[in-house]
Amino acid sequence: MPESSSTASLAPRAVLQKVFGFPDFRPGQREVVEAVLEGHDCIAIMPTGAGKSLTYQLPARILSGTTLVISPLISLMKDQVDALKDLGFRAEAINSSLDFDEREARLDALRRGELELVYLAPEALEGRLRSFLIEKCPISLLVVDEAHCISQWGHDFRPSYRRLQGLSRELDVPVLALTATATRRVAADVLRQLGMRKPAGYKGSFYRPNLRIGVRKKGEGNTRREILALIREWEGESGIVYCLSRKAVDSTATFLRSKGIDARPYHAGLDPQERIRNQEAFQNDEIEVIVATVAFGMGIDKSNVRFVIHRDMPKDVESWYQEIGRAGRDGLPSDCILFYSWADVKMHERFLNEIDDPELWQQKRQTTVDLFEMVERRVCRHRAILHHFDEAMDACGTSCDICTGESVSERAAAVPRRSPSRPASDPTSGPTPTARRRDPSLSTADEALFEELRELRLELARAQGVPAYIVFSDQVLREMATRRPTTDAELLDVAGVGPVKLERYGQAFLSVLERCTNS
Ligand code: ADP
Ligand code: MG
Ligand code: ZN
Repeated sequence: MPESSSTASLAPRAVLQKVFGFPDFRPGQREVVEAVLEGHDCIAIMPTGAGKSLTYQLPARILSGTTLVISPLISLMKDQVDALKDLGFRAEAINSSLDFDEREARLDALRRGELELVYLAPEALEGRLRSFLIEKCPISLLVVDEAHCISQWGHDFRPSYRRLQGLSRELDVPVLALTATATRRVAADVLRQLGMRKPAGYKGSFYRPNLRIGVRKKGEGNTRREILALIREWEGESGIVYCLSRKAVDSTATFLRSKGIDARPYHAGLDPQERIRNQEAFQNDEIEVIVATVAFGMGIDKSNVRFVIHRDMPKDVESWYQEIGRAGRDGLPSDCILFYSWADVKMHERFLNEIDDPELWQQKRQTTVDLFEMVERRVCRHRAILHHFDEAMDACGTSCDICTGESVSERAAAVPRRSPSRPASDPTSGPTPTARRRDPSLSTADEALFEELRELRLELARAQGVPAYIVFSDQVLREMATRRPTTDAELLDVAGVGPVKLERYGQAFLSVLERCTNS
């Protein structure tokens, strides 16, 4: 295959800095990127938010030919492709939502080798498209995102993933499997099902110190009021409240709205249009709180979720970890609060009634009981979760209710009640409990500037029809607010700002920074 000398000669680190605008690799990224570039099959097991996408996006820029990415959800694909285009990549998704001409145009571009990355849903891997990929397209790497979906031992088995069996052999390219599911059983199953040969592997730590985990038994207080108080602590920020039933979703959302919180419901019983509208409003920072069943989450990729509250207990440790993992993907402090009771275990038991196989029934029920028993024990929450994933750690000391001794109810009680009409950030009123909790490193003035930058980001995102975080993450805006760059070069120094973003957005952000810094 012909090599394009301009990109093939760039070292991974240079691409990291020049294309992505990041100063350093995160743990594991360099190892995985190198394995992929050397042509090994590879499995990367890293927690949500660790930066798995970069481990194939960076090689996609360096390798000649196209990197084929299998991803479970069309909505997620679109956001990824938008984000990549925003970095200057030639990337497309090919899926069933395209009209005929658009689909043909993208397939043509793929065949001619014009695309660096192509995203596909596993359902598409049949018949004509499969042989077209194998026979006609210059594929250089197969990436299986959310690879645990191929295993029925994972928390999210998808039969369509079974179509990936044998695909990398047929394409005759290496395969990179990515997952945030850390159990050994699932990893072994992924390797076997994908037919990986002598795979390189990287398993990152699943400890997420920025997640502050708290647990509260229901019935010891007024759950609704405690949830309300926790949400008020994060006024102006985004969060998810998970409930077990649709009814609980509706009643909780209604209750929160009656208390002045802009909360919307999400569950499979809603009219699809309303469901999508609510999801998008949340994704685009237009509402603060989404109250949802577990159906919500896989399709979103929002980095600034500041809290995940479980009104009811999840079905097992893995699901709990996945769901709280949607908080704090930008690395900033975030709250994860679990309310649980034995009645929740009983409720999960009822959901299991469809299972005929008594052995499987017993196994599944036991995983729910395991979670119940885990949260009843008074040991460090992070340590308990990691132990479940075969990872040893000392007590966290700082990021859970057991280690800090600060109970959920005490925290909820400590928050002053605030009237809903009060503006989210009023720079003249001095630091409020909300402002301090939001990010201890931001002064009141920085906080005000941060809000201005967020507004600009929303405007730019709306103009392009993409979610706000695709323009810049909260973390990037925070760094801008504290460092206050005034020149292109200083802006480039902010992690997450690369040359493409600089060209696209630099002027707009610099002018807000200048206006706010001088006033
Ligand atoms: P995962 O798929 O593992 O959940 P993502 O690939 O979505 O995680 O990445 C999470 C966030 O981390 C994204 O906002 C991404 O831009 C950011 N990120 C990835 N790599 C780096 C890095 N080396 N330095 C700084 N931020 C990074
Ligand atoms: Mg991912
Ligand atoms: Zn702890």
